[in-house]
Amino acid sequence: MHNQARLIVHGGAWSIPDEYVDAHLNGVGKALSEVFPKLQKGMSAMDGVEQAVNILEADPTFDAGRGAFLNEIGEVELDAIIMDGQTLAFGAVAALQNILHPVSVARKVMEKTEHTFLVGAGALSFALKMGFEELAPQALLTERELAFFDNIKNQKDFKTHHPFEFQPRDTVGAVAMDLQGNLAVATSTGGTARKLRGRVGDSPIAGAGAYADNELGAVSATGWGESIMKVILSKRVCDDFLHKEAMDAAKSSIKYLEERVKGLGGVIGINAKGDYAYAFNTKRMARGYVQNGELVLAIDH
Ligand code: ASP
Repeated sequence: MHNQARLIVHGGAWSIPDEYVDAHLNGVGKALSEVFPKLQKGMSAMDGVEQAVNILEADPTFDAGRGAFLNEIGEVELDAIIMDGQTLAFGAVAALQNILHPVSVARKVMEKTEHTFLVGAGALSFALKMGFEELAPQALLTERELAFFDNIKNQKDFKTHHPFEFQPRDTVGAVAMDLQGNLAVATSTGGTARKLRGRVGDSPIAGAGAYADNELGAVSATGWGESIMKVILSKRVCDDFLHKEAMDAAKSSIKYLEERVKGLGGVIGINAKGDYAYAFNTKRMARGYVQNGELVLAIDH
């Protein structure tokens, strides 16, 4: 038994403007302060990351669940993954529509099917079979995203990685270690702005958007998915945990992302010893963790 649980969460790595800083820190702080005490009382790391991500999915500040980006035709398509570091089991969904908590559908894929990954209409019909509520498409839309979509929909030179440099975009993720020493990770996103219909990014891809292995550590990534997938970012940090200090592992993988593929993004993680790690090469990354009973929230470098 460890006597301290661990929980670290992120709310996206972007050039988050000053006026959105408080909403990001409050959202991240809420997830930590609601979930950490339960982990400390013995809740499993899997339940911890699912519950933390559920709180962030419901918060319209973030690009996950409610508040997600709109694709090229103005629809919301959600991607999520959850992974258990004890067994390496994971479940994932992609291009899922009209469901508030895709990470919980991902968990059902893991626990109730022989598969690991369901997409699109198949993922939705599975979710309904599992008792999730199908929302009207408007229920996940926010005015912020509609206005942003109106602004970019006809821009000829628009590229999906531009918002990472210029606009707030906020995938969410959580990594936990429970009192048994088990690690788990969850990542959930609406993807990127004006993405093609059916586009899937790094977030639901095991190894890219998330990875957890009790023997290495666990990591959730955020940022420009097309670059993150090229370097299998989360698994790379986990592998680096074996022979580097936790923070160094995160920093060197972000450096590699930047130098090798001109990527943009950030990671959070916990190594097998329980040390926290984070790094990002965007202007800001909303993040927080609990250290010795204290809530630590940060957004700048
Ligand atoms: N990584 C996500 C994607 O490319 C977006 C993000 O992290 O904000 O779908």
